[in-house]
Amino acid sequence: MDFAEQVKSSVDIVKAIGEYVRLKKAGAGPRYTGLCPFHSEKTPSFSVHGGHQFYYCFGCNAKGDVFNFIMAIEGLEFFDALKLLAERNGIPLPPRGAPATRDSELRSALAEMHQAAAALFAENLRSPQGEEARRYLLGRHVAESEWDEFGLGLSEPGGQQLVRKLEKRGYPEEFVEQSGLLRRRPEGGFYDYFRGRLMFPIHSESGAVIGFGGRALRPDDQPKYLNSPETPIYRKSAVLYNLHRARNAIRKQDRAVLVEGYMDVIGVWAAGVHEVVASCGTALTNQQVRSIHRHSERVVVNFDPDAAGANATERSLQMLLDENMRVRVLALEGGLDPDEFVRQSGSEAYRARLDRAATYFHWLFDRARARFDLHSVEGRLEGWKFVLPVLQRIPDRLERVAVATDAADYLGIDRVYVLDKFRRPGSAPHAPARPAPASVPSLERLLLSALVASPEARAEGLPRLRDIPAVQLFTTKPVFDALFALDAQEGEFRFAALEARLDDAARALLAAVCLADEVSGGEVAYAQAMECIRELEQANSKMQLSALKNRIKEMTRNGDLDGALRITGELNRLQRSLGAPPANEPGSSVVN
Ligand SMILES: [Zn+2]
Repeated sequence: MDFAEQVKSSVDIVKAIGEYVRLKKAGAGPRYTGLCPFHSEKTPSFSVHGGHQFYYCFGCNAKGDVFNFIMAIEGLEFFDALKLLAERNGIPLPPRGAPATRDSELRSALAEMHQAAAALFAENLRSPQGEEARRYLLGRHVAESEWDEFGLGLSEPGGQQLVRKLEKRGYPEEFVEQSGLLRRRPEGGFYDYFRGRLMFPIHSESGAVIGFGGRALRPDDQPKYLNSPETPIYRKSAVLYNLHRARNAIRKQDRAVLVEGYMDVIGVWAAGVHEVVASCGTALTNQQVRSIHRHSERVVVNFDPDAAGANATERSLQMLLDENMRVRVLALEGGLDPDEFVRQSGSEAYRARLDRAATYFHWLFDRARARFDLHSVEGRLEGWKFVLPVLQRIPDRLERVAVATDAADYLGIDRVYVLDKFRRPGSAPHAPARPAPASVPSLERLLLSALVASPEARAEGLPRLRDIPAVQLFTTKPVFDALFALDAQEGEFRFAALEARLDDAARALLAAVCLADEVSGGEVAYAQAMECIRELEQANSKMQLSALKNRIKEMTRNGDLDGALRITGELNRLQRSLGAPPANEPGSSVVN
C-alpha cells in the first residue's frame, strides 16, 4: 500500500476534521455536519461523511478528502499535510533515502511480484501436486467457490519455483530481497519464503495483494501459520484480513464481525455473513480498529474461546471500547471457533447467534458469574470488584449508571449499594451530619478517609497517587507522605503506625478527616478512592495539555516549526488518550 493511502485509511476523517470543526452527527448514517471553516456562516452547511471519507460544503463548495482538508486549513503542501497526519496518528514515516521515483518504482514492482505469486500459488492448488492441499480444504468444508473468492493457493515445497518465476521477470536483486517473498541464501542466490503451505493472499483495502499467510499442511511443519514479513507495501498493524471484500457489507449491515484467523473468515463468509474481518496473526491495533470504525461503529467479536487468547481478547476489547465502538461478544458454546460452529450447526444457527450476541458488558458479567461463587456474599463482592474498573471507564455518566444497575442485577448485589459508588465525590446527597473540617478540600477528605479504610484502595491507589504532582500541594500532604512511607515498608498497615509518623497538626487533620467522612465497607471506600484518583489524574492531564499548548505557541513564535509539529503530535496523542472532545472553535487551528 502506498504510504499516503496507508495514512488515509488509518485516519478517520471525522476525527481529523473534528479537531478543527465542531461536528454533530446528522441522521442515522456516518454523516456529520458543522459550521464551515472556509466561509462565514451561522447555520451549518458543512458535511463530513465518515463512511466515504470526504467532506463537502453546500455553501462554498469546498470539498475533498482528509489531505485536501488539512492542506486547506493548515495552508500546507501535500507532502507536509501527509507528514502532519502521519505524525498526529502515530504512523511512522518511511525512512528517507532513495528518491521518490525509486520508491514508487519499488512499490509497484512489489505489487507485481505479489500478484504473480498469487497467480502461481492458485495454479499449484489445481495442479496434481495440489492434491494434499485440496483434500485438506475439502475436509474442512471449504468449497471450490471459496478457493476462487479468496484466491487460495499452494506454495511449492522445493523452494525454487517462485525464485525462477521472478528471475525470469528480471527485477533488480534489491527489489526481490525486499519483497518478503524470497530469502537470500548465505552461499548466494534465493529460495522461496513459503514452501509447501496453503496460501491465503492478504489484500490492501483497495484490493491489491500485499502479503500472504501460509498454513502448514503437515503437523510437523512449524510454525502452523507463517505470515509475510513487513515490507514497503505490507504493514501488519494497518491491515485487516478481508476488509476490501467486507467493507461494503459492513456499511450495509452496520456492523463488523471480528474473528481471529483466515479459516474463520472463510467459514463465516461462506455462512452468508460477509461483513467479517480478521486481524490475522497480530494483536489488534488502533489503526485496525479505526479502519473498521470508518465503516461502522458496531462490532461483534467472535474470537476462539481458548484460554491462550483470553488476555489478547481482553486487550482487543478494551481497544475497541477506547475507540468508542459498540462492542458485542459472541462466545460459542462447547469451545468451538466460528469455522467449526458453522460446519457443525449450519449458517442459519450461526447468524442467529451473531444477532443475539451479548453486549460487551453482559459478556463481562457472565465471566464474573463463571469465575466467582455468587451464592456467597464474598463471591458477589469479588465479582463486583472484577467488573468495577470497566464500569468506571464508561465515559457517559447516564450510561455508566445504567450499566452498573444491570451489573447489580446480574451479580445479585443491592442496586442502592451499587449506585452509591457512582456518586460524584463531594456532591453526595446524604452529606455527613458532622461538620467537615473546613480547611480540607472535599476531594482530599474523601480520598484520605477511603485510603485509610481500604487496603485495596491503598494497594492500587498509592502508586498512582505518587505520579500526581498535585498531591504535593495538598493541605494533608504530611499525611499522604506518611502513607507513602508506610506503603514502602513491609508489614500490615495500622492506623496507629500512621499516626505515629505525624506531628500534632497533621494528626488533628487526619482525625478530623476520619471523623467527617465515615466510610463503611471496604468496597465503598475502594470505589470512592478510585473515583477521587481518577478526578486527580484527569486534572493532571489537563495541566499537561495546557503546558504542551504553551510550548507549541512558544516554538511557533520562535520559528521552530519541526518542534511545534512534534509537540502537536504529542498533544493530540494525549488528547486522544483522554477521549477529550476537541475543544477548538471552527476555523481556528489546533495550535491555539
Ligand atoms: Zn463553506
